[in-house]
Amino acid sequence: MSFDSLGLQADLLRAVATQRYARPTPIQLQAIPEILAGHDLLAGAQTGTGKTAAFVLPLLQRLSEKGHPQRHPRALILTPTRELAAQVGERVHAYGLHLPLRSAIVFGGVGMQPQINQLQRGVDVLIATPGRLLDHAGRRTVDLSRVEILVLDEADRMLDMGFIHDIRRIIQLLPERRQNLLFSATYSDDIRRLADGLLKRPKLIEV
Ligand code: AMP
Repeated sequence: MSFDSLGLQADLLRAVATQRYARPTPIQLQAIPEILAGHDLLAGAQTGTGKTAAFVLPLLQRLSEKGHPQRHPRALILTPTRELAAQVGERVHAYGLHLPLRSAIVFGGVGMQPQINQLQRGVDVLIATPGRLLDHAGRRTVDLSRVEILVLDEADRMLDMGFIHDIRRIIQLLPERRQNLLFSATYSDDIRRLADGLLKRPKLIEV
């Protein structure tokens, strides 16, 4: 199986080609078509499996296919740490190179103002750690009411780090109608509870 057979558009395939990946990984093979079809997803995948491309590629395609650019984020990717936020942000940039989509990364431990400036310029894809995102939401420097796709990346680590309440508060700021993708390396009762409340008829993927 090649990337060409997954239903991805030419602009994304061009970006993938520059990465010189020989073929899609198992999580990419399974997740990309389901996400493109608009399904919610519960995916069990460790880091190193290619899970980032598995959600970033179809997410970018869905944004570029439907709707038009607007000032407010249309996709929100939550990560447990600033390092992961930066890594995912770098992938969004690399895979979205040929698309007219803007992205921004917000995490704690650094000044608010540069992030506020970036948010004010308009962002299609926002990558964020939960605490700092709530800071922005509280100051109304970000508006989450137009988010169409929510990704929880490394959800088990976010729960281990005590972010469950922040995550629930963030979810309350999102529109009811949206696509939800949950990635977790492990399944605990807490993850199952979160998934049960969040996901609508999810496709299940285990790699
Ligand atoms: P991740 O699991 O998303 O953290 O990705 C782990 C590493 O695998 C990253 O350095 C990616 O650039 C790389 N990668 C992603 N997809 C593929 C692929 N299809 N073939 C080879 N490497 C890949």
